[in-house]
Amino acid sequence: AAKEAGKNNYQFFSEQVRSYALERMALERNLRQALERHEFTVLYQPKRDLASGAISGVEALLRWQNPELGPISPAQFIPIAEETGMIVPIGKWVLRTACLQNMAWQREGLPPVCMAVNLSVRQFTDDHLLLDIATILKETGMDPRLLELEITEGLVMRDPAKAITLLAAIKEIGVRLAIDDFGTGYSSLAQLKNFPIDTLKVDRSFIREVATNASDKAITEAIIAMGKTLCMTVIAEGVETEEQEDFLRQNSCDQMQGYYFSKAVLPEEFASLLRTHHAIPLPEESAFLASQ
Ligand code: C2E
Ligand code: MG
Ligand code: MG
Ligand code: MG
Repeated sequence: AAKEAGKNNYQFFSEQVRSYALERMALERNLRQALERHEFTVLYQPKRDLASGAISGVEALLRWQNPELGPISPAQFIPIAEETGMIVPIGKWVLRTACLQNMAWQREGLPPVCMAVNLSVRQFTDDHLLLDIATILKETGMDPRLLELEITEGLVMRDPAKAITLLAAIKEIGVRLAIDDFGTGYSSLAQLKNFPIDTLKVDRSFIREVATNASDKAITEAIIAMGKTLCMTVIAEGVETEEQEDFLRQNSCDQMQGYYFSKAVLPEEFASLLRTHHAIPLPEESAFLASQ
């Protein structure tokens, strides 16, 4: 009976492995054609300045909808796109799309807004990255100062010397740099000061319980203080509640991003958010009225 059960286990296990492998193959096969079949779109998630409440920027987030597989989350397909190298052409497409969208908003008369685009490790090791960025900026007419590239600590730590050179060259064009998911990697303050980084994005995992958990509070405060010391902008990711936002504002975090303000939305929805949230509001409406 034991032998029988063992055999069943084995069959069950291999069945799982088989279906996993098939799913992975289907994903990869469809991903190869996704770009030419126009299955990608980009959604835009606003970033908000905590002191004024105004929209301070926006992040481009890739979406994939396949007729056979339905919507597939970036957490599922980005790793495959990285492994296979497909992220290089896909990433270029995202960058171009985001720059074109930014220019379209400006033509509509909206105030210029800083556009963040995610960059994966695989793109960073591509020899053409710098030229591709410069070409896309030139072809779209996008002001480099309005572009921010979000990279991860892992990317920087893999080969610090090479990273510093490439990041410095990107900064040379006028493009801003952010460290995404900050706090989850292994970079230290000592290493960070050598990189030409403009923005630190505090990882969502510290924000989730920032209003209640003492160590998450301490870590977030430390990152904010560190960012200030290095003259970087600090932005908290994954803010979902008023309590989290209040904590961050009280602790002088510069900006927030998260479902509490807005998820990633279609371009026209972002445009209407920008119309209502771009003006720096008066500190206290009632105080202003009282002085009249
Ligand atoms: P990320 O760059 O750290 O982006 C933040 C992710 O958190 C996004 O997920 C966003 O939708 C989600 N998010 C935002 N606010 C909240 C919140 O309040 N609560 C929760 N639970 N989640 C929130 P998304 O769009 O699924 O993207 C996941 C990751 O995939 C991104 O993490 C980024 O690393 C990668 N990614 C997305 N688009 C691109 C792209 O165009 N290129 C590359 N290389 N990577 C991308
Ligand atoms: Mg990001
Ligand atoms: Mg992030
Ligand atoms: Mg993240």
